[in-house]
Amino acid sequence: MRTLFKGGTIVSAGGGRRADLAVEGEKIIAVGRGLTGEFDRIMDVSGCLLFPGFIDAHTHFDLDVANTTTADDFFTGSRAALRGGTTTVIDFACPNKGESLHYGLDLWHQKADGRTFCDYGFHMTIDDWNESIRAELPDMFAQGISSFKMYLTYPAMMTSDKEIYFALKDLRRLGGVCGFHCENAGVIDALIAERKAAGELSPASHPLTRPAYLEAEAVSRLLRIAQAAACPVIIVHLTNEDALDEVARARKRGQSVYVETCPQYLLLDESVYFQEDYSAAARYVCAPPIRDKSQQDVLWRGLRRGTIQTISTDHCSFTLAQKDMGRSDFTKIPGGLPGVETRGELIYSFGVAKRRISLGRMCLALAENPAKLYGLFPRKGTLRPGSDADIVVYDPGASHVIQASDCAANVDYNPYEGFVTAGGIRQVWLRGALAVENGTVLDEAPRGQYLARGKCSL
Ligand code: MN
Repeated sequence: MRTLFKGGTIVSAGGGRRADLAVEGEKIIAVGRGLTGEFDRIMDVSGCLLFPGFIDAHTHFDLDVANTTTADDFFTGSRAALRGGTTTVIDFACPNKGESLHYGLDLWHQKADGRTFCDYGFHMTIDDWNESIRAELPDMFAQGISSFKMYLTYPAMMTSDKEIYFALKDLRRLGGVCGFHCENAGVIDALIAERKAAGELSPASHPLTRPAYLEAEAVSRLLRIAQAAACPVIIVHLTNEDALDEVARARKRGQSVYVETCPQYLLLDESVYFQEDYSAAARYVCAPPIRDKSQQDVLWRGLRRGTIQTISTDHCSFTLAQKDMGRSDFTKIPGGLPGVETRGELIYSFGVAKRRISLGRMCLALAENPAKLYGLFPRKGTLRPGSDADIVVYDPGASHVIQASDCAANVDYNPYEGFVTAGGIRQVWLRGALAVENGTVLDEAPRGQYLARGKCSL
């Protein structure tokens, strides 16, 4: 099957340019003006932007958290992703402490294989460090896992500075990259204990016990450990200026540091936690928390300047009934927001259309940079001959109101309820086949493939 996309604007890191795009089977075979030849289908995409399929490198599907399980599993979560133009997700395989990396990888394959609508890969969480975990690392690479995740907070996940140092040295030797959740653990615990003792148990206590400077402290410490290990690192879900300043200092020293942020930190502010109604506030609980409004501009500026490379969602969804678990204690609210479905339209509408970032920067943050960082480039993340024909056809003239009731994710609220988009996704193509049209997922059965990833090329 040969398909010609005619009259559209092809988006790349350099911005948009008018060109036709030809697809044969699952691959792009040509991009250029006035393409001719024999085609089975000609799609008129004049007036539309064609993006490389978006990559969401930070999702949590089918994850057990705080005595419950995320509302979205791979089936519902990946369907929502695809509907929002995300043709690849990289989820976090999470073995518990005491379990092997292989156990975690097998478990994540069981959760995802045959149940995922978009293509997918896994990062491997390292929440334990010992000789047997160490010995498993080379085989992780052989199985297509080239990126890892470690935590500087959460007792169930965190490792010591010493363990992080040793893990980074091994990952450097093996050519891997590691993302870090950076928040100080001890002081946050102390602040939580103080608020609990004072009987201040509402969601308003959540941001007050996890201030921006305690994220910056962890970023600073992690970057010094990475300096000692001489290993590049990724700061995931960075939220604020103090933390970004620490990154700038490390870069000035010559360190390689990659930074991810998320739509909730770009578009929402901490006032969401100070609403009277419990449910209205609890739905926004995530860590790190959403910050004060002044941080939004800091993060947009970081994207504009390229000091922040990627936007992922940290999609970790819970229903309002699940969020109710913390009614009498904010620390029992399962943390996380849905977002995998709305990232593309939100970043276009509030980034590109509002002139906060260019079209090229959006393409970098949602597609090209994650593809390079996580070893998928140039198969994914770009529209060029030889790449997978993962294509988002975006109509900048369309517009709609974001509503949970319209969404495919298995959640009964949307953090961006009522936001009006500038433009909308008309079609999503996954490896050369039309998968979504005007909001309807056409694929009845999941056909996402596991992606064995190579090494970082960013
Ligand atoms: Mn996360």
